[in-house]
Amino acid sequence: MTTLPMNDLEGAIRRTIRDVPDFPKPGILFKDITPVLAQPELMRGITGHFAELYRNAGIDAVVGMESRGFLFGVPLALELNAAFVPARKPGKLPYERVSESYALEYGSATLDMHVDAVKPGQRVLVVDDLIATGGTAVATAKLVERLGGKVVACCFVIELCFLDGRSALAPATVQSLIQY
Ligand code: AMP
Repeated sequence: MTTLPMNDLEGAIRRTIRDVPDFPKPGILFKDITPVLAQPELMRGITGHFAELYRNAGIDAVVGMESRGFLFGVPLALELNAAFVPARKPGKLPYERVSESYALEYGSATLDMHVDAVKPGQRVLVVDDLIATGGTAVATAKLVERLGGKVVACCFVIELCFLDGRSALAPATVQSLIQY
């Protein structure tokens, strides 16, 4: 897979993300990644960047959070030859589940995972488009740990540093491509 050099990649993603003020609530500056999805070179670059970081880390599964975590998690799982595991909103997963509730930058939410999605001892990457307060990723990491998995790292395309989600996830390793 050919990828852009890191500086070019970061700049290109930064220029491509669309800022939408006051969505979904007044005061939230929404980082819209749909223009990034429209550019295969950027998607290849993002996948390649995280795959290079974790290629030799013995990753068994990539967990992506509904729904934008799926978009980056599935290609990364393929590239790492790992399982992809969806962490889903309530009412979506058909089989036996574990659940965690958490606070969002806007509102509160619950995520579910199938009880057999992560096996005891498996090494897991958690992937989402963006980390804000870290609540979503902390809940996902708890689901992984309740099933006996080990969270090797949490990866995000975008990090909103002023909300310090990184501290909420400590001591887990946090990787982000673009920081605001
Ligand atoms: P948090 O749990 O506070 O870290 O929020 C992260 C989750 O909410 C991710 O799944 C993001 O997709 C979404 N999110 C939170 N804030 C924003 C934002 N400003 N722009 C886009 N997505 C956001």
